[in-house]
Amino acid sequence: MINSEKIKQIIKGLGADLCGIASVDRFKDAPEGFRPTDIYPECKSVIVFLKRTPKSSVYAVNCIPYTFVNSMIMNIIDNLTIEILYKLEELGIRCVPIPSDDPYEYWEADKSYGRAILSLRHAGYLSGLGVLGKNTLLINDVYGNMIQIGAILVDIQLKADPIVTYEGCINSCRICIESCPQKALGGKTVNQALCRPLSTYKHEKGYILKKCNICRIECPNAFRIKNF
Ligand code: SF4
Ligand code: SF4
Repeated sequence: MINSEKIKQIIKGLGADLCGIASVDRFKDAPEGFRPTDIYPECKSVIVFLKRTPKSSVYAVNCIPYTFVNSMIMNIIDNLTIEILYKLEELGIRCVPIPSDDPYEYWEADKSYGRAILSLRHAGYLSGLGVLGKNTLLINDVYGNMIQIGAILVDIQLKADPIVTYEGCINSCRICIESCPQKALGGKTVNQALCRPLSTYKHEKGYILKKCNICRIECPNAFRIKNF
């Protein structure tokens, strides 16, 4: 019988470190046009999974190792998404994949603002995989913010996981906000126009480099939630 536990077992067996499930009604506060049912009207549940990102990349002062790991982990999550689709399809479940990052259509050129078809960090929160920090990243109790998220929309009702209530941010902490060289963080949102020149720096040879990860790695909870 197909149930939440069986699906999580399959997904972890394929390589995910964690998997959570959100019922579709939890996305009612998402912007119109960016809810799971706006992507797939038959969607009943959202399966969210993640892989931890190797810590090794953050010790370098050169941006290339971090850019490399970031790019590879996105590919790994996207490949995992495809593997999960094959398995769920074999079980007769209709599903729709969400890319771990690009591509997306929504773009406000004047603000350099893009919006994914589904916010994966919010999906992670709504499926019990973590809480949102002031750096706008999902923070998981075990893996901190060093995670890459994927999601699949399915047409079956699955038991949802409880939303977690642990504290992601230390009360008075403002390290990420104050250490951002672009002053791009407001505590709940990131000004993409300010962040992009460093986080998606265009090299003259055409590469996109992650020249900044300060808000991620300076966070005291980057690698796990301390004292949890
Ligand atoms: S990646 Fe860098 S520039 Fe962008 S919000 Fe974080 S600290 Fe600021
Ligand atoms: S640096 Fe501090 S304020 Fe920013 S996300 Fe981490 S704990 Fe929260």
